[in-house]
Amino acid sequence: MKPNVKRSTLCVQAGWEPKNGEPRVLPIYQSTTFKYDDTEQMADLFDLKAEGYFYTRLQNPTNDAVAKKIAALEGGVGAMLTSSGQAANFYALFNICQAGDHFITSTEIYGGTYNLFGVTFKKLGIECTFIDQDASEEEIDKAFRPNTKALFGETLSNPGCRVLDIEKFARTAHRHGVPLIVDNTFPTPINCRPFEWGADIVTHSTTKYMDGHATQVGGVVVDSGNFDWDACADKFPGLTTPDDSYHGLTYTKAFGKMAYMTKLVAQLMRDLGSIPSPHNAFLLNLGLETLHLRVPRHCENALKIARFLQADPRVAWVHYADLPEDRDHALAAKYLPDGTCGVMAFGLKGDRETAIRFMDSLRLICIVTHVADARSCVLHPASHTHRQLSDEQLREAGVAPDLIRLSVGIEDADDLIDDIREALDKI
Ligand SMILES: *Cc1c(COP(=O)(O)O)cnc(C)c1O
Repeated sequence: MKPNVKRSTLCVQAGWEPKNGEPRVLPIYQSTTFKYDDTEQMADLFDLKAEGYFYTRLQNPTNDAVAKKIAALEGGVGAMLTSSGQAANFYALFNICQAGDHFITSTEIYGGTYNLFGVTFKKLGIECTFIDQDASEEEIDKAFRPNTKALFGETLSNPGCRVLDIEKFARTAHRHGVPLIVDNTFPTPINCRPFEWGADIVTHSTTKYMDGHATQVGGVVVDSGNFDWDACADKFPGLTTPDDSYHGLTYTKAFGKMAYMTKLVAQLMRDLGSIPSPHNAFLLNLGLETLHLRVPRHCENALKIARFLQADPRVAWVHYADLPEDRDHALAAKYLPDGTCGVMAFGLKGDRETAIRFMDSLRLICIVTHVADARSCVLHPASHTHRQLSDEQLREAGVAPDLIRLSVGIEDADDLIDDIREALDKI
């Protein structure tokens, strides 16, 4: 790729770079396997001595081209696609945590991630402490233990729309010799690049804005290559000591800045195998080609709607960090100066029934378990995505029982406002 091009150009052209006579458009390599002329060539691939393709669970040219585009957009050294955002967060942590280890996360995270961290990781012997992301550095310091391996947060939380103070989290993590992992799903690298603020690893649910059309479920893990694993070698034996499953190869010695990414693919993906199909990667790439056009439109529409909601007497509260009155506006102005995203949270005056009547009266804006695609939609987390959480856990995760999550699409803003006004008239 030509150096120093802008993000818009990377969206359109990074990743697949055809050679003379090759297809201009990213081809779908819908093949499990790749052919070699002799056993030696294949053996070198298995030993990680040579780069190339042999089996799609480990690497596939379509998937890799899309991963490369996302790595370029985030400013990372490498990326790996996964079959879902859930898998991305699982892999990002499991690559550096094992039974007996511990990590720390903000409570302001997606419901699925909350379960993964609090319930499923626990079954694997990996403990997680949930902290208030507004706490002081000194408070957060207290959650660290000798076996802590990472700090985790979401740039913009789903569904609370809180903004993470990335620099504060990065400083705290680094003071304890562990990386900061940031889920950057909602802003996308168009609106925020967490590596520029000190984050070490970024994850995404590509199911959301990156795809943008709700056609595939996917995820990605991106590494900045900045974290010095060898400086805290005793904490990360998986990266800094020999891997028996690769003839005693040590990732940091053999791969330097690519150590984390190589282990992620060669060891975890080999053993756990949550890859996206090349066809899904192709769809994701189509979405990425217009990401830089869609994200600003989502933000523009959302701000108009947030202002409308804020001014309506039937609305109790609105959380949208682009509003100057929002509690997180200062953080948003710092980390997301071009806008946050199309998702906001609000509550209506009244009870649970009021929220349900409002949602059932919308016509353009549909009730779906999704966010962050071209079509506007609403969700009531307390009765949908977060229904497995107790009221206490709901509050901890920043989800009020009356919270309506509105994901503003790229339709005409005035049509959406009319739809909302008509539904409010019916409550
Ligand atoms: C949706 C979402 C996930 C989970 O992603 P899936 O692709 O649904 O598995 C993780 N993090 C955030 C912030 C999300 O919005």
